[in-house]
Amino acid sequence: MAEHIHTDQNDKRPLKSVAVVGAGISGLAAAYRLKSQGLAVTIFEADGTTGGKIKSFAQNGLIWEKGANTMTETEPEVGKLIDDLGIRGKQQFPIMQSKRYIVRDGKPQLLPSNPVAFIGSKTLSAQAKLNIFLEPILWKHKNSKEKTPNSPDIYQEESVGDFFRRHFGQEVVDYIVDPFVAGTAGADAESLSIRHMFPEIWDLEERFGSIITGAIKSSWSRKKAQRDAKHVTHGQKRQRGSFSFMGGLQTLTNALSKKLGEESLRMHCSVLSLSCNLQGNPPHNNWSVCYARNDASYKEPLKEQSFDAVVMTVTYLPMSIIITTFKKQDVKHPLEGFGILVPSKEEKNGFQTLGTLFSSNMFPDRAPTDQYLFTTFIGGNRNRKLAKSQLKDLQEVAVNDLNKILGVGSDPLSVKHIYWNEAFPLYSLDYNSVVAAIDKLGKSLPGIYFAGNYRGGLSVGKALTSGFKAADLAISDFNSKGLCTMIGTDHEVK
Ligand SMILES: Cc1cc2nc3c(=O)[nH]c(=O)nc-3n(C[C@H](O)[C@H](O)[C@H](O)COP(=O)(O)OP(=O)(O)OC[C@H]3O[C@@H](n4cnc5c(N)ncnc54)[C@H](O)[C@@H]3O)c2cc1C
Repeated sequence: MAEHIHTDQNDKRPLKSVAVVGAGISGLAAAYRLKSQGLAVTIFEADGTTGGKIKSFAQNGLIWEKGANTMTETEPEVGKLIDDLGIRGKQQFPIMQSKRYIVRDGKPQLLPSNPVAFIGSKTLSAQAKLNIFLEPILWKHKNSKEKTPNSPDIYQEESVGDFFRRHFGQEVVDYIVDPFVAGTAGADAESLSIRHMFPEIWDLEERFGSIITGAIKSSWSRKKAQRDAKHVTHGQKRQRGSFSFMGGLQTLTNALSKKLGEESLRMHCSVLSLSCNLQGNPPHNNWSVCYARNDASYKEPLKEQSFDAVVMTVTYLPMSIIITTFKKQDVKHPLEGFGILVPSKEEKNGFQTLGTLFSSNMFPDRAPTDQYLFTTFIGGNRNRKLAKSQLKDLQEVAVNDLNKILGVGSDPLSVKHIYWNEAFPLYSLDYNSVVAAIDKLGKSLPGIYFAGNYRGGLSVGKALTSGFKAADLAISDFNSKGLCTMIGTDHEVK
């Protein structure tokens, strides 16, 4: 629950001012929370639109996403915000979202959505399925020699691949974990830190040892808590899972931007540097933000304004998105459902993409009724060089994989290419040092707060929640220490 700013009728000091760097979902959420608590907020955004990695486009009867396609309501803050913004009625759930596929031995295989389907599924061999059933007794501890008191960090920096191998074996890593992290984070299982990428699963091992046992027990207690909450709030039953909005995911960030108002948004403004003056008790207006308009039609000298500061860099992974449309009659084996992921093992069968979303099957308004719209992901850590290729080559790669999966026969009706040089932060095995540096900076400089996807999770919901958390911390410090504040939501601030 957000703390309120304490105001005194006789207090003649100027309103506390807050600068937010970046109008992605985390920056917008932070600004929204701060403004709703009565603070003066200025958001600096280098781009000409708000939303950051959330950008929806509509043209010629097509709607497509340049970045994030769907989000979830796992974090309670998300649902509350949707209600507050009055966009619940625009929420759109994908048709048959439980139907998700992976490629195995060159062919699409339906991922099982319940234990009975799991037994009959062709996604994994009988041995791998047995490993999953027996995990509560067969899972292996982390090699004890690495868990010595002198090297406690080694335990925290285990890779996602090693972690799941200890619990379920190599095949689960190859055909479930690897395609999942490639498709959702552009990463590979061996480079990612389990602790930073999947903190909830890492925590299950800490608490229960076995992941299966931990997941079952946590699910029981979550269901009980939900039943109790419903009893108290008479809450309505909500549809679960991934969703978007009519018009695309940007409906959410547009609604947030509208609430914040143009007066809070400084678009086309790149923050170039930040400096902090530690004098004054309590410090007041001690952070100086230096920014420049990067709008080609608008020339003006660098400007400075007083607020707060941050310096930070993180490795980001490149990714290309290829949006293709096809006449329905030209797709020989269309699949219902959400989409398909491609394990790296399938490179031997000629596959090069990370996966494809069946966008117009999920949301029929995304293309005219006689067309399919597909969103294909290429690059990430699996193939950084390919992500940067020319459209002609990327189109060939996407259509080649779609042909093998769905039997697309002809050239696409339309092709769009989006290139993200910094699509996802890589939560690498040494990510502890990044987090430690951020924490150190936060402790040594009063009034600086961090939000964004470079910490605590990559999803839209997690980034949004990180914005709220940073704002709540700032508000709490205002009340206790009378600080002046700056929130950095992006790593590019130098
Ligand atoms: C291709 C792709 C697909 C994805 N799919 C999904 C999905 O389906 N579901 C999901 O949950 N998540 C998905 N994600 C992840 C999710 O979209 C992001 O993690 C999240 O939106 C990040 O929000 P953010 O506010 O932390 O950062 P960003 O959205 O990156 O926002 C940062 C903002 O800061 C601005 N900025 C940068 N430098 C400066 C500066 N110096 N001065 C001023 N402004 C600056 C940028 O222009 C940007 O607008 C996807 C991401 C990508 C790239």
